[in-house]
Amino acid sequence: MNLHEYQGKEILASFGVRIQRGIVAHSPKEAVAAAKQLTAETGTGWYVIKAQVHAGGRGKGGGVKLAKNLKEVEEIADSIIGMNLVTPQTSAAGKKVHQVLVAEDVYYPGASETSEFYMSVLLDRSKGRNMVMYSTEGGMDIEEVADKTPHLIFTEEVDPATGLLPFQARKIAFNLGLSGTAFKEMTKFVTSLYKAYVESDSNMFEINPVLKTSDDKIMAVDAKVSIDDNALYRRKQYAEMRDLREENPIEVEARSVGLSYVDLDGNVGCMVNGAGLAMATMDLIKMAGGEPANFLDVGGTADAKRVEEAFRIILKDPEVKAILINIFGGIVRCDRVAQGVVDAYKNMGDAIKVPIIVRLQGTNAELAKEIIDNSGLAVHSAVQFQEAADKVKEVLG
Ligand code: GDP
Ligand code: MN
Repeated sequence: MNLHEYQGKEILASFGVRIQRGIVAHSPKEAVAAAKQLTAETGTGWYVIKAQVHAGGRGKGGGVKLAKNLKEVEEIADSIIGMNLVTPQTSAAGKKVHQVLVAEDVYYPGASETSEFYMSVLLDRSKGRNMVMYSTEGGMDIEEVADKTPHLIFTEEVDPATGLLPFQARKIAFNLGLSGTAFKEMTKFVTSLYKAYVESDSNMFEINPVLKTSDDKIMAVDAKVSIDDNALYRRKQYAEMRDLREENPIEVEARSVGLSYVDLDGNVGCMVNGAGLAMATMDLIKMAGGEPANFLDVGGTADAKRVEEAFRIILKDPEVKAILINIFGGIVRCDRVAQGVVDAYKNMGDAIKVPIIVRLQGTNAELAKEIIDNSGLAVHSAVQFQEAADKVKEVLG
């Protein structure tokens, strides 16, 4: 589950990580009130207005702007709220901005130069351990840094039994070229950041940039946070932060009926039981010259109701030109699934306008084929995997 920048910063602050202070606003009027409050609290005279959407690269798309007085706060908030923000990380259609974060300006001049770093905490899957990834090249696209100057990216592996140790925090501050107050601030920053990552059950914390201010404070200017979905049951306060407006509407609906569904770009909808078979089915579709429109695991209880729900979800995707149902009848009997498919098809009437290929294997498979073949519906049945692939090819023309 992805979070907005302001929510990520809230979590960081709750673990003692220094952040650029900000207040969320839903209208230009609220933005001005927020700016006044920030000045009262921090003394700031300038503000940054930041679009809150689930996408990075907002700065490049015109979603982050500096305001030097309250009039500019109002104007900029007015132009950003309601806009369709297109960034290198969104689709061409962009993302609608519902709210902005009005933040204090932290790039003020002072005794030393400001500098920007990159820092993230995430799981290193190959090692099965968490790591801190960091770089002196902050504020830029990290993929680009990895591409052009990979030697400027450092990683620090963390032993889960000990957590991030003090010597590791010092090593990180040292590698970032810091000394004095900034060095101490950085060791505190990364230690609290790591704690926030672990104790919030996150998949990722990415802070880009981490800023060293001109008076040697270290703070998070941006926050990209993703919480592990499987941990949300025990992190209710974070689960409440979910913003469904930012998520794929078909996936949201599938989740609400308990289906495991991932929307993809292709044209062949798939309904499969078991994640492994679902993956193999997607391969099969590709080999037949199609592209899967989705990943969908209907789970172990594929009765008529569930099959119908799955149909409805798959058909919400306008790109779907054919549906392949591939069910292995182990615990669930194939004839019952077949009846479910037939019933769902009849119930949905006109809603299904695309050809359907059904492959049922396992317990009572022959009976299942009979039910499909005798139903009088335009459903193609297949027995072998290859046969199903050929039929997909056939219907796609
Ligand atoms: P992103 O573009 O979505 O990654 O959004 P960020 O939160 O990282 O902001 C983009 C850029 O805005 C940062 O890299 C900074 O250079 C700039 N920025 C953010 N906060 C301030 C600020 O307080 N003052 C100034 N002058 N620039 C800022
Ligand atoms: Mn950023």
